Amino acid sequence: MITIIRVALPVPLAVLFDYQLGNQPVPVKGARVKVPFGSRNLIGIVADYAESSELPLTQIKPLLAILDQQALFSEALWKLLHWAAIYYQYPLGEVLQAALPKALRQGKAASITSSIQWQITPLGRSLLDCSRYSRQAPKQHAALRQLYQQNALIPYAIKQPILRTLQAKGLVQAIQNQPIATPDRLLCQQTEKLLPILTAEQQSAVTSISQQLNRFDVWLLQGVTGSGKTEVYLRLIAQVLAQGKQIILLVPEISLTHQTIDRLQRRLSVPLAVHHSGLSNSERLELWLAAQSEQIVLVVGTRSALFTPFPNLGMIIVDEEHDRSYKQQNGWRYHARDLSILRARNEGIPIVLGSATPALESLYNLHQGKYRSLWLTQRAGGAKSAKQQLIDLKGKPLTAGMSSELLSHIHQHLQAGNQVLLFLNRRGYAPTLLCHDCGWIAACLRCDRYYTFHHHIQKLCCHHCGKQHSLIPQCATCGSTHLITLGIGTEQLELALRLLLPQIPIQRIDRDSTRLKGALARQLATIHQGTPQVLIGTQMLAKGHHFPDVTLVALLDIDAALFSADYRAAERLAQLYTQVAGRAGRASKPGEVILQTHHPQHPLLQTLLLQGYPAFTEQVLEERRQALLPPYVSHAILFAESLQSQRAIDFLIAVRQLFEKTASQANPLWLLGPMPSLQAKRAGYFRWQLLLQHPSRETLQQQLRLYFRNIIALPLARKIKWALDVDPVEG
Ligand code: ADP
Ligand code: ZN
Ligand code: ZN
Repeated sequence: MITIIRVALPVPLAVLFDYQLGNQPVPVKGARVKVPFGSRNLIGIVADYAESSELPLTQIKPLLAILDQQALFSEALWKLLHWAAIYYQYPLGEVLQAALPKALRQGKAASITSSIQWQITPLGRSLLDCSRYSRQAPKQHAALRQLYQQNALIPYAIKQPILRTLQAKGLVQAIQNQPIATPDRLLCQQTEKLLPILTAEQQSAVTSISQQLNRFDVWLLQGVTGSGKTEVYLRLIAQVLAQGKQIILLVPEISLTHQTIDRLQRRLSVPLAVHHSGLSNSERLELWLAAQSEQIVLVVGTRSALFTPFPNLGMIIVDEEHDRSYKQQNGWRYHARDLSILRARNEGIPIVLGSATPALESLYNLHQGKYRSLWLTQRAGGAKSAKQQLIDLKGKPLTAGMSSELLSHIHQHLQAGNQVLLFLNRRGYAPTLLCHDCGWIAACLRCDRYYTFHHHIQKLCCHHCGKQHSLIPQCATCGSTHLITLGIGTEQLELALRLLLPQIPIQRIDRDSTRLKGALARQLATIHQGTPQVLIGTQMLAKGHHFPDVTLVALLDIDAALFSADYRAAERLAQLYTQVAGRAGRASKPGEVILQTHHPQHPLLQTLLLQGYPAFTEQVLEERRQALLPPYVSHAILFAESLQSQRAIDFLIAVRQLFEKTASQANPLWLLGPMPSLQAKRAGYFRWQLLLQHPSRETLQQQLRLYFRNIIALPLARKIKWALDVDPVEG
């Protein structure tokens, strides 16, 4: 007889906790329960049952309450999360709760309280084409149009106050229990005349996948930027929806994905929701509940959207699968692409990984025969691929980092009525402030890194810990006031271009310029008006957004990436280059890409430019194979940081000894370290790491499973900050 309930709690201990059932009914696995824990009450998840406990009954407290009658997780998700807790060595309680909206973690009821669909009324419909209404109340009018196009939808896309206003005016009405879009409606969408005719490659990709919709496969869709991957997704989505199933579309970043979302909304008359970090807790809960009850059938979202509780998931699509933002960088460090693949396997459904620049890991898996390959080699709609050019910077005079050759290209393209995109991956005015008399450089002492000078706010900012320091008038060493900046950031580039091109609007798009809500959307809207202008951007601009009126893209300074201490730098540079190059131009306006460098003969650059990304990745994969680096070897990094450097080192030495003591084993891990992290100090903390590696992922996993408990039990483990990162993408 079940008397003990074993509960996963959101605490940093990888064990289940026993509670007495008392005379309550047995809760289902996957339901929430409230339990006493120390002096607090916590909400946990029922993970297992037992007939007896190892502890004496007197020490086992009773459950306080059972919050759910039904499990909050489908079988496929339940299995996935259990697997992930072991794979990433993260407590099951924390993993399970990370997959739930915060409101549920806090104990809110997991049931729908409000009616969540809206419909346009005949009166509302009559105002759709009223230009006076659209002028006087543009937001209301846009919301009305959206509702009309979607027939019925849940209100994440439209703000509540606007809906209330529309309702008060009798233009929309709330409806209850509206059945979801029927395949019929989708069919009529499919026959719409406006659908582009698929290219042969697109058609073949769609056909291949749609013949295998009911089984697990990983499809790697490699398509140059603008080759029509999104169009392929759209056709597949329509087919899966027509089967009455649901879809998750993962994207790296929502702010630059609005083009895609608009396209989805225009094309598919189904309730969809956008899952992003800007949602409130109650919106997240509503979205979760609506997905669970199939009131929405398509979710577009970032990383954690992969946990959307669709009961009948039909496909997962991971767009820009190479993007680093899919890896969570703190807490539970999971990889959303990798977990999506596992979820798809558990669900028995296909998953599509799309990218113009697939990650080396994915290409490796393709070579291993684990993935299936699909290619889109041509740009859709007849757009030509861009012309490429290298400018050798050696010995050339520069204006704000631009050679005179580049400047004359910029003039030409602007004069032809086109837009120019300048790419510089460094925010701020200048990365260094230097004393001209003695060479002293202003640095953040907490990080041992130079301050970046920000002109707009007249401050020195540390890009590593976020600290801001007021501008220093004098050298801290010699007292000289002759302080100069060294190096160019986006802010300085912008100011220089304003002087050089006084008639031309300049848009700088980086984390500083887009901090205010709506700023990015306004900038993108101006850019899409198509008038001549210069766009300055950091790597933000390389994600998912097309700029059809840009005909010249220039990368100003890439040399640091060619000689980085991080072995992944070359791969990232190639992805960045290929991505930004592909965001420009259209059929009637072919693009041009310029790369400025001091090392035009660098073999990686030569391969990339002359032979393209696929040849480049072959070369880099071969280098990684010879150097025994991932993906040929599996990595896990144990990060340790402390205000006292020695403590972090000692902890890692103790961990190392743990693994080495068992030297009798035939197949030891290869250990490297302790060594300083790439960023050896941040915000006062000294950062060290120990690399655990093995050619066999299984061996690495096995040993982590064996020894992780011993690591937790080390005396120093409580005195420093530490974390394990399995399959790290940084460090
Ligand atoms: P990707 O997602 O690969 O970057 P998109 O699907 O966004 O490419 O397509 C790029 C552009 O080409 C879009 O403007 C899209 O409308 C257009 N397009 C896509 N497929 C076709 C097609 N078969 N015929 C004409 N235009 C197309
Ligand atoms: Zn000085
Ligand atoms: Zn700092």
